Amino acid sequence: MTLIKPLMGEKYPVAIQAEGTVIKIDDGREFFDGSSGAITCTIGHGHAYVTAMIVEQLTRVQFVYRTQFSNEPAERLAERLCERMGYAAAFFANSGSEAVEAAVRLAQQYWREVNHPEKTKVLSRRVSYHGSTLGTLSLSGHWPRRRAAGNILVEEPSIPTPYCFRCPLKKSPQSCKLACAQALEDQVLAHGPQSVAALVLEPIVGASGAAIVPPDGYLKAIREICDRHEIILITDEVLTGLGRTGQWLATDHAGIRADIVCLGKGLNAGYLPISGVLANARIYDALMAGSGSFHLGHTHSNHPVAAAAANAVLDVLEEEKLIERVAELESWMRERLRTIATERAVVGDVRGCGMFWGLEIVQNAKNDSFPAELGAADCIVRRAFNLGLIVYPAAGFVSGISGDAIILAPPLNTKLEDLETMIELLGASLATAEQELCSKMEKTSATSQT
Ligand code: PLP
Repeated sequence: MTLIKPLMGEKYPVAIQAEGTVIKIDDGREFFDGSSGAITCTIGHGHAYVTAMIVEQLTRVQFVYRTQFSNEPAERLAERLCERMGYAAAFFANSGSEAVEAAVRLAQQYWREVNHPEKTKVLSRRVSYHGSTLGTLSLSGHWPRRRAAGNILVEEPSIPTPYCFRCPLKKSPQSCKLACAQALEDQVLAHGPQSVAALVLEPIVGASGAAIVPPDGYLKAIREICDRHEIILITDEVLTGLGRTGQWLATDHAGIRADIVCLGKGLNAGYLPISGVLANARIYDALMAGSGSFHLGHTHSNHPVAAAAANAVLDVLEEEKLIERVAELESWMRERLRTIATERAVVGDVRGCGMFWGLEIVQNAKNDSFPAELGAADCIVRRAFNLGLIVYPAAGFVSGISGDAIILAPPLNTKLEDLETMIELLGASLATAEQELCSKMEKTSATSQT
């Protein structure tokens, strides 16, 4: 009788206390949460105000079912998010995967409501992660997770991701004229715009590619193509939404708005499971004028206590001015990480923004990835862990097999001195991992020569 953990044979450390950016385990050791868990805990651990708001709501109404009652925290949360981000309506679910699934279902229902039931196809990009349900993993280009699902997935992403460090179209950012955006239009025309319901994308690629930021003009070009062919633009901001990148939404950097936006990690900050979709007036009005209902829901949709937690997270973001803080810290973070990159040959690229950074790991000056079997990302994660720092791995994003990167994404309210320490620990972890990886490479090439 046991709990199924990700690696079933592994003995995991047991967390017994978490406060701010520090997690303490059962043998007394402490770790800096340099990745906010899975890029989730935006306001750090154990925030007393959020805990108090959760307890207060628990003592009022702990649960009501959405077809029987509404509740005040969910109503307030919907109003606040829509007002702040310029949307007409919100729907809440539990996980990021459910939010993306709901967004897709909403887009498809929209086309049925406006008498275009033939518009059903949903396009997505090759380096991407949208969730672990069958529907959302089908839309994801996270190859290690796709492989683990076997052959039951129903779709495959077909649009190139704007991954300039290794352009999938073999072009250079100076002269490409955003060919990766044009590739969307080519795909739409190949399918026939009358059959395409929506495009789903992460404005900044998260777990599958480690903070891949698109080139200037890309998201605007995508928005224009969607408008030209009447395609619903769904942005998956489960990871980037609500402050992680130094704006409320990552699309704010590009000055565009999606028709539907998905929120998750940034909405709950790890306190209670809640995710959501925000839809614009075009979508909401069409449903109101049509069937008058959204044909999807979960038992715990619009959960009052989870909504109270999310409202409290919003209070903290606003009152502690965390998003402004992240925007201010961005260039400092970039400079510090670039300095590490110049000192460590294994760092081929530093990318990201706000408090969301990816370091791509390479084996040489030609930026070749390490062979997948070396597990370069995991090696760095392990080295960092031994020094008391948690970082998050991304692997398998180059040609679906190799490609290693690690993500540094601390809570948005991490103290400056703790950020300094985390970056120092990261540098030290990279130094020892570099030695380990180089000696493994030497052994591999010696074996292959004998
Ligand atoms: N979308 C993005 C961009 C994500 O990063 C994730 C999780 O990493 C998901 C969706 C899925 O969220 P969840 O794991 O809460 O289902």
